[in-house]
Amino acid sequence: MQTRLSSDPHENGLQKRRLGESTLAVHAGEAHQKVADSITDPIVCASTFTFANTQAIIDYIEEKQPREEYGRYGNPGEKVVERKLAELEGGEEALLFASGMAAIVGLLMTKLNAGDEVVFFDECYHRSREFCSKHLARYGVVTRQVKACDYDAMEAAINDRTKLLVSESPTNPHLSIVDLERFAAIGKRRGVETLIDATLATPYNVRPLEYGVDYVLHSATKYLAGHNDLLAGVIIGSKEQMEPVRNLRGIMGAISSAHNIYLLERGLKTFGLRMQQQNANGQAVAEFLASHPRIERVYYPGIESHTYHEVAKRTMRGFGGLVTFLVKDADWRATANIVDAAMIPRIAPSLGGVESLIEQPLVMSYYECTPEDRRRFGIPDNMIRYSCGIEDAADLIADLEQALKA
Ligand SMILES: *Cc1c(COP(=O)(O)O)cnc(C)c1O
Repeated sequence: MQTRLSSDPHENGLQKRRLGESTLAVHAGEAHQKVADSITDPIVCASTFTFANTQAIIDYIEEKQPREEYGRYGNPGEKVVERKLAELEGGEEALLFASGMAAIVGLLMTKLNAGDEVVFFDECYHRSREFCSKHLARYGVVTRQVKACDYDAMEAAINDRTKLLVSESPTNPHLSIVDLERFAAIGKRRGVETLIDATLATPYNVRPLEYGVDYVLHSATKYLAGHNDLLAGVIIGSKEQMEPVRNLRGIMGAISSAHNIYLLERGLKTFGLRMQQQNANGQAVAEFLASHPRIERVYYPGIESHTYHEVAKRTMRGFGGLVTFLVKDADWRATANIVDAAMIPRIAPSLGGVESLIEQPLVMSYYECTPEDRRRFGIPDNMIRYSCGIEDAADLIADLEQALKA
């Protein structure tokens, strides 16, 4: 079936311009006319796909006939969502996984061999760090961590065994912003591929491929799906670079069910609207906190006091819904009391969904770490991470105001 709308200005026939994120989120990747003339895509519940006869199998193998074969290798709904996400990110090919972590593991397992090295900026999702240090190490892959946004340190850590440079941007939970141009340039200069986990930014706010980064990864569980009701992950890159990743995914089987994929496609329809609201809520909550006497420090790329505000302003359209802050003169218990006193945000890990969420990183993600490790990871006892949903900013602020009196 013919896909009508594409982000490629030469293909979409609309004034030779890139379509906006909201138009792409609604239409890209979808056939203009669908099964049973339905406006929505069907949920194809099939573990396998039948062939009319032996010749049909041979035609499929010889790539004369695009179609599905077996559920682990693909599903019609998955193709639609992959096309949509590739268009949003401005990349050639997107590959959908069962979760963000499955996507990271899939990419690293594809690209790294025994003896290879990977260099990470040290502010990152703790499970990504754990996969490298605990598991890739068992296969003889060496992980080197350098201070986030220290480009000289990153370059100095590269040697002739280095195969991949990895960072998040913004980082979690400190929201440091990587200078993507510099990061990609190091990779190009040294012949090393680069990966940005842009989960916290989304293609609404920044598109790392435009800066020359090789792979962009998202936990689609967060803003892309947006409703706190599913897990998914995606990697976007060139056709050629994604081919071996697709192959390994077919072996790993870290894929989404047809129903899950439909929920993701449905969630993506409102992506542009949700990002506008979450960017606005993040900015408003950050500004409120920055001027509050009980707050020691606010980490949000959209406020001037943020270390990376200039880079953020230059490269990002908005700064997202995540706001991290430190409470002045508060021990872990006094900090927990504020979390517990907030009425609107629910206490939970995750971010990017329509419901606001609040958590104390010390308790939620780093409780079992030693105090030394927490210091090393930059997780003080008085840190709170607030993920703005799409509620009204005035309500979120009024609620925080009362919670800070706790
Ligand atoms: C949540 C998250 C992940 C992991 O994604 P899952 O979908 O939970 O597996 C990876 N990176 C970042 C930045 C995240 O926020």
